[in-house]
Amino acid sequence: MEKIKCRIRENSWLARIAARFMRVQSVAMVLGRTIHLYGASRERFLSDIAWMRHEACHIKQYQHLGYFGFLWQYFSEYLRRGYYNNTLEVAARASEEDPAILDDIEII
Ligand SMILES: [Zn+2]
Repeated sequence: MEKIKCRIRENSWLARIAARFMRVQSVAMVLGRTIHLYGASRERFLSDIAWMRHEACHIKQYQHLGYFGFLWQYFSEYLRRGYYNNTLEVAARASEEDPAILDDIEII
């Protein structure tokens, strides 16, 4: 099976805006197949398996829903339920315990 190739962008201005908005020091934010990082290096991200699984789940959500489908669902869930109870976040948090989630993900 073909792996989903993903990129990491460090020091992303989009992730910086998200970090400010969420009042957190470091953040990862997925857009399509790119993981935007702010306040954390590529090395730190890659050394945190639960964090990688979480973002891998969001990448798969994009594959499933499409780019704008994901953004639309994420935003409407956010308005309805906030961040923590957003169903896309609930699924991503559950994936932190799933060793198989990274099997078809390749970070280049
Ligand atoms: Zn998330």
